[in-house]
Amino acid sequence: MKSFSLAIACAAVALWSVSTPAQQPASTTTAFTGARVIDGTDRAPIDNATILVRNGRIVAVGPAASVTVPGGARRVALAGKTVMPGLVNAHGHVGNTVGMEQGHYSAENVTRDLKTYAAYGITTVFSLGDDQAAGFAARDGQRTATLDHARLFVAGPVLAPKSPADAVKLVDEDAAMKVDIVKIRVDDNLGATPKMAPEIYKAVIDEAHKKGLRVAVHLFYLADAKAVLDAGADFIAHSVRDVPVDDAFIAMLKRRNVCYCPTLMREVSTFVYESTPSWFADPFFLKHADMAQVDALKQPARQSAMASSKAAQRYKAGLDVANRNLKTLSDAGVGIAMGTDTGPPARFQGYFELMELEMMAKAGLTPKQVLASATRDAAKCMKLDAELGTLEPNKWADFVVLDADPLANISNVRKISAVYVAGNRAEP
Ligand SMILES: [Zn+2]
Repeated sequence: MKSFSLAIACAAVALWSVSTPAQQPASTTTAFTGARVIDGTDRAPIDNATILVRNGRIVAVGPAASVTVPGGARRVALAGKTVMPGLVNAHGHVGNTVGMEQGHYSAENVTRDLKTYAAYGITTVFSLGDDQAAGFAARDGQRTATLDHARLFVAGPVLAPKSPADAVKLVDEDAAMKVDIVKIRVDDNLGATPKMAPEIYKAVIDEAHKKGLRVAVHLFYLADAKAVLDAGADFIAHSVRDVPVDDAFIAMLKRRNVCYCPTLMREVSTFVYESTPSWFADPFFLKHADMAQVDALKQPARQSAMASSKAAQRYKAGLDVANRNLKTLSDAGVGIAMGTDTGPPARFQGYFELMELEMMAKAGLTPKQVLASATRDAAKCMKLDAELGTLEPNKWADFVVLDADPLANISNVRKISAVYVAGNRAEP
C-alpha cells in the first residue's frame, strides 16, 4: 500500500516536470515541508512529510524522501506541526445574519462568513438554505488558485410548497438556478407549526431526482425520517431527536448510502443561553465573534426567557437522544457528515464546528472517526470528494496546520497555526 501511494506521488511529480515546465514556472509551486500529515484517507499519518502544491491543487504528498521539490519552489517549513485536511461543514448557512437578525443577505456578508469559517479551519461549507444570488456567485467564482476563504455550496431557498404541483414548480426553479442540493423541512417545530404533507415532499423528491438533484431534509422525529427515506430522501440534515434510532432506520440509511448530519451544536444553541456560556470568555471565540450577538445573549431578560422556555428544555432533552443516536449510527457504519447548522443568530460559525467535533467525541466517537466525518466522509456525503476532503494528488490544497495532533486529542483542532485554501494562507 505504501509503495503504491509513493509511486502515485512520484508519477505526479514526474508528470509535472515533463509536461509543463515552460508555461508553469517553478515559483507557482509551493512545498510545505516537515509536518506530520494526516491525509484524511485510511493511511497512517506521514511523519516529516512534504506537500507539493501547484495552482491551488496538491501535486504530491508523501515522506520527504519520496517527494522531489522542484528547484525554485517556494518553501513553507512546518516542522513540529500536524496537518489535517480542511474541515467540511455539511450543514451551515451564510450571508444572512447581522446581529440577532436574519434577512440581511449580501455579498459582503457571504464573504465575511466564509472568512470566519476559514479562520477556524472550516475550508468548505455546504449551505442548506436561504442562499441568494451573492452565494451562487461566490460558489461559481471559487474554482481558482487564488481563493483564500472557505468554499461554499448552496441549496437556494428552503422549499415550502403548498401542493404537489407547486413542489414541481419550485424544484424546477431550484434546478434552473443550479442549486447543489434541494432543501426541505419536514417538521412541526415541537407541535407549533403544520408539517409538510407526504404527498408534497414526495413530489419534491421525485421532481428533484428527475432533474438530477438530491434532497436534504430537515427533520426531528424518527417516523418522519423513515417516511422521507421511503420517499427517496438523500440526506438527513439533523439528528433524530425524539426516540432512539432502530435497526429498520439503520438498514434504510445503509441501503442507499444516505448520510446523517448530527448538528449537535444547533441543539446546544437552543438552550445554552439560559446562562452565559463559558466560551464567551475564550479569546479564540471572541477573536471572530459578532459582539452584537454576544452582548444580546448575555442580557439577563433574554437568558431568563430561555431558561423558562419549554421548547428550550425539550431541545435540551433532544440533545441527549441525539448524542446516543450518533453513537448508534456510527457503530452501525452509517455515513456521518459533520454539520452544525451555524449561521443563524446565536450559532457562531467556525468556533461551533470545532465544538461540534468535541461533542461528537463526547458522544463516543474516536478522534479518528470524528475527523473522518468532518473531512473525507462529509465531502463524500455531499458529493464533493473528487476534489475535496482528503490530501491527495489533484485535490484542492485545503488544509489546517495545527500545533498538536488531533488524533491524540480532538480538542487539538483548536490549536490552529495556519489555514490554507487552495494553498493560500487564509487570514488568521
Ligand atoms: Zn439549517
